[in-house]
Amino acid sequence: MGLKLGPEGFPRKGEVMDPIWLLLLLPLAVLSGWVGAKRSRQQGVHRSAAKPLSEPYVRSINFLANDQHDEALDVLAKALEDHDESLEIQLALGTLFRRRGEIEKATQIHQSLISRAGITPEQKSLVLFELANDYFKAGLLDRAENLLLELGVSENFREASLRLLVQIYESEREWERAIAAAKALDKIGSEPLAPQIAQFQCEMAERALVAGDYAEAKDRAIKALKLNRNCARAIILRGRLQALAGKHGQAVATWTRLCAERPEMLHEVSRLVQTSAESMEDAEAYLDFLRRAIAVSTDERLQLSLADFLLQSGRAEEAEAFLRLWSKEHGSLSGLHRLLQIRAEGDPTGEVSGDYQLMRNVAGRLLADRSGYECRFCGFQGKSMHWQCPGCRHWDTTIPKLNTIKLS
Ligand SMILES: [Zn+2]
Repeated sequence: MGLKLGPEGFPRKGEVMDPIWLLLLLPLAVLSGWVGAKRSRQQGVHRSAAKPLSEPYVRSINFLANDQHDEALDVLAKALEDHDESLEIQLALGTLFRRRGEIEKATQIHQSLISRAGITPEQKSLVLFELANDYFKAGLLDRAENLLLELGVSENFREASLRLLVQIYESEREWERAIAAAKALDKIGSEPLAPQIAQFQCEMAERALVAGDYAEAKDRAIKALKLNRNCARAIILRGRLQALAGKHGQAVATWTRLCAERPEMLHEVSRLVQTSAESMEDAEAYLDFLRRAIAVSTDERLQLSLADFLLQSGRAEEAEAFLRLWSKEHGSLSGLHRLLQIRAEGDPTGEVSGDYQLMRNVAGRLLADRSGYECRFCGFQGKSMHWQCPGCRHWDTTIPKLNTIKLS
């Protein structure tokens, strides 16, 4: 790291910052810009008496935004020589320490800034917000929460405080509080939070389901669907609760809604539909679901489920004909692999030639390890379904990976 630090953790005069440090300044600049913009909106063209951000600092951020890292480096290095006591430079350093995981140093900087002489109330709020971020990163969630609740009273920090509060309540799995904070944020923020609040309601529904309180679970699932009719998780939950109440026909109808709302999630419910169809002794209900699902989804596992169903129903010839046609028309390796598998299983004497076995094994290897789930936002991959991505913490961005290899 190019930046050398003095005894108090601050850069020594004349030292040059590493470009990576400069990149890390950006989030603070965004927040500072946001506060500035908010203030400008409230006060029109009149600037407050508070000292504006230093001109070199703003210039460096502009250079960074245009990927002119060398220019930004020159400006900030000069700023460190001339203004190393300025509030924004110290705040930037605090942010950098926090992002490097040096939370103690970040906290020390921010705590020392609070008691600084001449600091304006708005600057103090900015420092307190940074301190709340330090506590959040350090896992001191109660302390962070208390600071943010205090800061949220000020209109300038309301949105930013609520945003971090939602994250804190998510970490604590305090869903009721998360709902309240997200609702408040939804009213003043720029992005709609109804889909996220629907996920919090689903968390409460699942908690109630585990506790055996089906009425509460149903109420929560319905609330989630009112917030977001495309919420696959709420649709799946609603169907499960109907099936638990013995209303299998309604459950299948609910899960079939995914055909219109979220076709990529249809395979997630195919086993549930099959079980409910069996409970109703209505095999056609499952067959009908699969046909409707196959018509709107590219997930080849649905076709394989249909072939399996035909085989289990003693309709082997129909299953083979279906797989043959599907493999031919769509060039599907999955279809061909299953066809070869059926032929091998139907040939206990081993008359099927070794070449067939070889083809089946090669196709199987090509298809292996391609199943699982993937986040549409950050690309995180895993073997199990997460409603909140473990990588980027976004909700409802994880979908099944399509296990598809086309031969044509
Ligand atoms: Zn992600």
